[in-house]
Amino acid sequence: MNSCFSLLLLILLSTDFTRLAASQPQTAACAANEKGRPAFVVGQTYFGTSEYIEYLAGDLPVVISVPHGGHLEPPEIPDRELGTNGRYDVLSQELARDIIDAFHRKSGRTPHVIINRLHRNKLDANRESADAAGDNPHALQAWEEFHQFIGDASKEVTATYGRGLYIDLHGHRHNQQFIELGYLLVTGQLSLSDQQLDSTVQPSETSVGLLLHDRTASLSTCIRGNESFGALLEKHGYASVPSNYRPSPTGKQYFSGGYNLERHSSFSGGRMCGIQVETPMSVRESTEQRKKFAEVFEEAVMEFLKENGFLQP
Ligand SMILES: [Zn+2]
Repeated sequence: MNSCFSLLLLILLSTDFTRLAASQPQTAACAANEKGRPAFVVGQTYFGTSEYIEYLAGDLPVVISVPHGGHLEPPEIPDRELGTNGRYDVLSQELARDIIDAFHRKSGRTPHVIINRLHRNKLDANRESADAAGDNPHALQAWEEFHQFIGDASKEVTATYGRGLYIDLHGHRHNQQFIELGYLLVTGQLSLSDQQLDSTVQPSETSVGLLLHDRTASLSTCIRGNESFGALLEKHGYASVPSNYRPSPTGKQYFSGGYNLERHSSFSGGRMCGIQVETPMSVRESTEQRKKFAEVFEEAVMEFLKENGFLQP
């Protein structure tokens, strides 16, 4: 399905998304570029049907999806049978917008960002389609468009840079205020020593097999070494697991990564190194904390890209 088919292209007037959402559609379709990919314009925001899904086209080799931060509860979509009892990743959408602002301000660059604006009661955009949307056609359409935008963004990144970083951004409610980094490794695997982990887990079983293949580094080094993403966040004062300081979540609640990470990381092929980032409430609950974390997150992502050579086309 060509994602341009049903998209409304809105001109990005600024990073003020309230203003943006209220602006008039400029055109109803976008053309394919010379390589046959949809021709998204860097810095512009695109919406799917009924503006349930939002895509900010970027210029960095970074794709960030936000599946659980939506607020919209349109009557045309009934509550999911599986339901969430009103639970969603509170303030994770707002955090994503602060992260976009931090990139613009600090580096003048733009990550690709895909936001599910529907409430999790209506669409769980981190599940396979039946669990995510039931049989409601509007929810199914939004689910398709969410994943299509991620796919289109990833194609753009890999066509330009050869590979990239995919981050599925969430907000957890666990008591411990750690940032939980998911690599499709469960607590039992992370509890192993570095040597045991490296000898028993195949890189292809994780979301970062690409890093190991390209750098011939060990899995333990990639996920909890001194240059791991967790270590970069720890360096800036944010407790993270796994990391050089916290190799395993043993004894604590921990999310290892879900449907989106499996689908959009190199676990399923392709050239995107994937991390599920579960942020604690302590980094989301106030504007000040979100902005502070967003600055650090931008720095950590840029350092990670440089360390791994992702910025060279
Ligand atoms: Zn979530």
